[in-house]
Amino acid sequence: MADREKKFLLHPHAAEAWRKMKATAKSQGIELWLVSAFRSIERQNRIIEKKKKKGIPDRDIFRVSAPAGFSEHHSGRAIDISTEGYTALEKEFENSEAFQWLNNNASVFGFILSYPRGNEYGIAYEPWHWLYKR
Ligand SMILES: [Zn+2]
Repeated sequence: MADREKKFLLHPHAAEAWRKMKATAKSQGIELWLVSAFRSIERQNRIIEKKKKKGIPDRDIFRVSAPAGFSEHHSGRAIDISTEGYTALEKEFENSEAFQWLNNNASVFGFILSYPRGNEYGIAYEPWHWLYKR
């Protein structure tokens, strides 16, 4: 699917839900940008290997990155969202109007926040990461 600058891959149902959600948000003055979608197992492996080469301990890597094969991004149903004026994939996104909007409206389109603050998986809080669950 085409977004601003890159092409992203998503499961067709998730892609359609995303398009509707983005358009609805826009009609209400909220910009939602897609910053990542489908990611292959190989790509996840490369991300983790790169972090290991930098000397980042496993404990820290796996708090923020799922092991290859276990990322919700492999399903084509997970998206990372950003908006104007915020750095992608940073917790400050929670202060944006876009995040407030998502909290109030994303479930209508079938998207849920996978890793809320203090989640049961022990995964770092990710206000930008939403999963299409329908
Ligand atoms: Zn994500």
